[in-house]
Amino acid sequence: LDKKPKVVYKKPIDFTKIDAKLLPTVMIIGRPNVGKSALYNRLIRRREALVYNTPDDHVTRDIREGIAKLGDLRFNVLDSAGIETEVSSGTILGRTTSMTANVLSRTQFAILIIDVRAGLHPLDLEVGKWLRKHAPQIKPIVVMNKSESIGETLAEVSSEALALGFGEPTAISAETGLGMTALYEVLHPLLEDYMVESLNDRCSQDDVPSDENLSDEVEESKLPLQLALVGRPNVGKSTLLNALLEEERVLVGPEAGLTRDAVRVQFEFQGRTVYMVDTAGWLERTERDKGPASLSIMQSRKSLMRAHVVALVLDAEEIIKSQRTMTHSEVVIARRAVEEGRGLVVIVNKMDCLRGKQNSEMYKKIKEAVPIEVQTVIPQITGIPVVFISALEGRGRLQVMNEVIGTYKRWCSRLSTGRLNRWLIKVMSRHSWKDSASQLRIKFFTQVKARPPTFVAFVAGKKQLLESEIRFLTKSLKDDFDLGGTPIRIIQRSVL
Ligand code: GDP
Ligand code: GDP
Repeated sequence: LDKKPKVVYKKPIDFTKIDAKLLPTVMIIGRPNVGKSALYNRLIRRREALVYNTPDDHVTRDIREGIAKLGDLRFNVLDSAGIETEVSSGTILGRTTSMTANVLSRTQFAILIIDVRAGLHPLDLEVGKWLRKHAPQIKPIVVMNKSESIGETLAEVSSEALALGFGEPTAISAETGLGMTALYEVLHPLLEDYMVESLNDRCSQDDVPSDENLSDEVEESKLPLQLALVGRPNVGKSTLLNALLEEERVLVGPEAGLTRDAVRVQFEFQGRTVYMVDTAGWLERTERDKGPASLSIMQSRKSLMRAHVVALVLDAEEIIKSQRTMTHSEVVIARRAVEEGRGLVVIVNKMDCLRGKQNSEMYKKIKEAVPIEVQTVIPQITGIPVVFISALEGRGRLQVMNEVIGTYKRWCSRLSTGRLNRWLIKVMSRHSWKDSASQLRIKFFTQVKARPPTFVAFVAGKKQLLESEIRFLTKSLKDDFDLGGTPIRIIQRSVL
């Protein structure tokens, strides 16, 4: 079945060739004034950046993030003032600030700095404790900074530092560059192992959509929109495709598509490039093979993974005749699209068949009933747009494209952490939580990914949120931020 040779990544890894988005992230932590900024600046090779002399300065500092170069090693490096503030202001065992949670959600490694001149400081131990509490999976590398002219006390501090419980420290001097080779030797094997594992993980995720690695800076509207038209034979997919193309100037004619059964065309709509795939064969085969585990479903799944938005075309005439909105295979395909994280639009075609006085009741009924039915059979996402058209007469083409593009935009949405947390406070008071303790359990909420929108809820304690609570949050997100038709994912992380 799968003829594509599987790529397996092995050592050595050439970090200089890896997309910045895939590189591991290392955060620099330590109490104030140990030289975090100095090390950060050295790693990103920026000399002019400010180095602060007094602990008080950190109040105004933000998280800084850059790409570290250490020999041929590359990684994302974070210098976070939020953590420092928490630790040094004694609130370490208290709440997690938004900044911290955000940083921790995307960090795999840490460098914990101590100042060798001062020896092991009580606050260094607090920093260690803080890390164990908030990110027990991260085992930091301990470095002793300012060791350019320290002599024999080095050994002394080195053994003191074992009390942190993170192993032997490495002596460096961020200011002079001493010890950078030693730091490289400690970091390199760790990051390389991580990289091998994470690249191989990505490969095994079956057909990862090719645009997954796009950087956030690329304006969403400049990217081509991948639209898949799905539906049973004879519902009018080809007719719709032609109607859309007629309206929107074809740039590239139908070409042999991704599979034998698919036809792909490209066109421009309101300045945006759209790749549209008409997947003629899928549902036919699905229907024949029966059952959700059938081969054709497996194949269609691959094609679905490439689409951003899936437009499911239904036939109004059939709906009236059979007295049901969707067949089993239509439901299976729609659910599959949603499970794969695609946006969904439902199109009811052949509405012209219901014209005329004798059909006006039917017409009204179908317009009311289909959206309700769609929502019932696909409860995972809410606000799925339903468009009623006649492809044959060319009616509703514009509406189809507007809903498709609207869904695509919602699928690409990014909500700022500040906005989300203000929203969280409001929404928490709206719900009648079963367990009154639940109300206070979500500490922090942040969006980690778009396409589709994916959020992380930091939950106090080990207990997961209830299914109903997740549903409530999902629905509230959809209502309050207009995210209809796109799957919304919520990942839980516990903060102790
Ligand atoms: P942060 O508060 O941890 O970010 O520390 P900074 O990077 O702002 O450094 C605090 C002070 O330590 C500054 O005066 C730096 O010049 C100094 N410093 C940083 N690294 C070194 C080093 O390797 N050797 C010496 N002697 N001083 C350093
Ligand atoms: P496909 O198999 O889904 O690609 O369907 P086609 O586009 O080939 O259409 C199947 C049949 O339905 C053809 O005879 C079309 O003329 C007809 N058809 C398509 N759209 C409409 C429509 O909006 N109204 C009516 N009355 N017939 C349509």
